[in-house]
Amino acid sequence: MDSELYLGKLQQAGFTVVDTLEQADVALVNTCSFIQEAIDESVETVLDAVALKQQGKLKAVVVAGCLVQRFKDGLVKELPEVDGFVGVDGFGEIDAIVQQALNGEHHALIRRRPRLPHQGQPSRVALTPPHYAYLKVSEGCLKGCRFCVIPKIKGPLASRPIEDLVEEARRLIEERGVKELIVVGQDTSDYGVDLYGRPRIADLLQALGKIPGLGWIRLLYCHPKGVTRDIIEAIRDIPAVCKYLDLAIEHADDQVLARMNRGITQQGLRERVGMLRAEIPGMTLRTAVIVGFPGETEQAFAALLSFIREARFERLGAFRYSNEAGSAAFRDPDQITETLKARRYDELMSLQRQIAEEINRTLLGRVCEVMIDEQDPDDPNVFLGRTSADCPEVDGLVYVKSPSRLVPGQLVHTRIIDTYEYDLVAEPLMPNAECGVRPPRSVADEFRIPN
Ligand code: SF4
Repeated sequence: MDSELYLGKLQQAGFTVVDTLEQADVALVNTCSFIQEAIDESVETVLDAVALKQQGKLKAVVVAGCLVQRFKDGLVKELPEVDGFVGVDGFGEIDAIVQQALNGEHHALIRRRPRLPHQGQPSRVALTPPHYAYLKVSEGCLKGCRFCVIPKIKGPLASRPIEDLVEEARRLIEERGVKELIVVGQDTSDYGVDLYGRPRIADLLQALGKIPGLGWIRLLYCHPKGVTRDIIEAIRDIPAVCKYLDLAIEHADDQVLARMNRGITQQGLRERVGMLRAEIPGMTLRTAVIVGFPGETEQAFAALLSFIREARFERLGAFRYSNEAGSAAFRDPDQITETLKARRYDELMSLQRQIAEEINRTLLGRVCEVMIDEQDPDDPNVFLGRTSADCPEVDGLVYVKSPSRLVPGQLVHTRIIDTYEYDLVAEPLMPNAECGVRPPRSVADEFRIPN
């Protein structure tokens, strides 16, 4: 979403946003740096752009975002070939930095305390397909997880007012034709604490749920400690809110959770997962887990596997612990070897594959609504879509086999005819069986056995 804001400001200032580097005069690289893998990827992209500049194919390279904010002057010194740098809050000044870069002047705008979140309703240039968009409700975080550098980069929680978010959502629906809104922030469960003195994510969902024309609202990045009754009720009772929650547990062994400073025990996690499943029929839970945190014993890892077997998260993403300078755990002495992390990662993912495959198999023959994302680039008679239990870009796909054309954003009644580990295959119940934009029902309803 930040890239959309940078491009929006540039477009407003008269620059033309193009689709490929070959067409561009300037490359703007928006970076990430929360783990080593993201740093490597960001640096590689910057170096690729620099190489193009050296070959005369670009006039300037500007680097923005987390990598710049985290490494500040050190990065500027390391990359003299880059023409301009902006930290995580340079949305308002990006046009000036780019213009100066084109004029051959090198500038870096990196505030020690970033001014986040952005204010008002700045323009955005869509980088997602028109039928879905991200809505960033806050920046920064009040939690102090010992593995995480995000609060150091982005600062403490800073929420955007409910009215601004509702207005932005309305504009996304009216101007872009958005049908699915994906609500994000570093920790959405704390949304509003800084502005209103208490968490107000449930109130925000209520307000968004009243906007006409919105099909699905999906809540991501919720800390399990912040799962309260009003969040559960909002997901359960607001028709447009997907019966889906991204709830990163990070681990499930009490000692590891304490050392991570997660502020919750395994029993606390069990209670939250239990409440969500009991109160919201057909609830889909996505989680994220770190393996190889310092001091993670075989016993602790076994406790994690056992909890994953018990909770049966429908979706799970795992990370090998990345020891980040500046995080509280950086100097912990009992680091885990990369070989052991890899072994645990493989073991965890093989368990999850099995769980996901078993869950998918139960869906065979059932009827569900699928939102079409795109035509399969390899087969004109297949369209790629998702159920309301799948978030774009991270969850599974539904391959819809249809002799007639389906269009992105279209909701189609389908029957599941085959299942894979993570993906499903479906066919429309009747040719062009469009549902229109309808709020998601629970997955229990959605995946009903046809009469
Ligand atoms: S809640 Fe998320 S963003 Fe905040 S410190 Fe923990 S891991 Fe980092």
